[in-house]
Amino acid sequence: MRKKTEGKKTAGNRAGDQQQIKEQAKKPLKKPLKKKEDGRLLAEKKELTMEVIRRLKEEYPEAKCTLDYADAWQLLVSVRLAAQCTDARVDQITPKLYEKFPSVAALAEAAPEQIEEIVRPCGLGPSKARDISACMRTLHEKYNDNVPDTFEELLALPGVGRKSANLVMGDVFGKPAIVTDTHCIRLTNLIGMVDDIREPAKVERELWKIVPPEEGNDLCHRFVLHGRAVCVARRPQCAECCLRDICRYGSAGMERKI
Ligand code: SF4
Repeated sequence: MRKKTEGKKTAGNRAGDQQQIKEQAKKPLKKPLKKKEDGRLLAEKKELTMEVIRRLKEEYPEAKCTLDYADAWQLLVSVRLAAQCTDARVDQITPKLYEKFPSVAALAEAAPEQIEEIVRPCGLGPSKARDISACMRTLHEKYNDNVPDTFEELLALPGVGRKSANLVMGDVFGKPAIVTDTHCIRLTNLIGMVDDIREPAKVERELWKIVPPEEGNDLCHRFVLHGRAVCVARRPQCAECCLRDICRYGSAGMERKI
């Protein structure tokens, strides 16, 4: 038979509970309310980002694409050719390409082999020529030789990835864009705007959280300029950098190779 007092608290139990609660209150919380991971909190990163934007604007007043193009479709061609190639080399090759094929229609009608013959010095000739040919055919057949102005449509074009689609959105259509190229990925990790993330799509996702949409496109162009002039791969010139005191890597005075 169960006793009537079972399940009820006696005076002794209650005193014990209160003592336990008091002791518990003295202990530190096992987890902080807001977990501070190894990186900076979002608010800190936003503040850091605004300062980076301000300083790079001062340092590089003109933020523009380093690829030469006169039309949106030419930017699509150039950015495809720029994969694993320098912009300078692409800018040397494209005038020859446009001399022979001066329009979307002309490139759409060209055989990939004819395109490859010209773009070969940019490397990866066969696949670049194939992509350019397929992309121009799609523009010709589906978009009346125009370049679509939505991210989704751009991304659906042959050979066009997020980086290219963002570049066109920002440079051609003046819409919010974040271009996560090699400079952007390297600099944002060094500065501490992202924490050890190398995959372009993930870096882009993190940057959307901290970069004002209207600043993204120009900021990425300035990362390219800064990455070439000062924050050079494997030998960043921190002593000469305008970001040194706010950059995670620069302010730590690290000497190791990156
Ligand atoms: S301080 Fe050094 S690592 Fe940081 S952005 Fe400048 S050059 Fe790059």
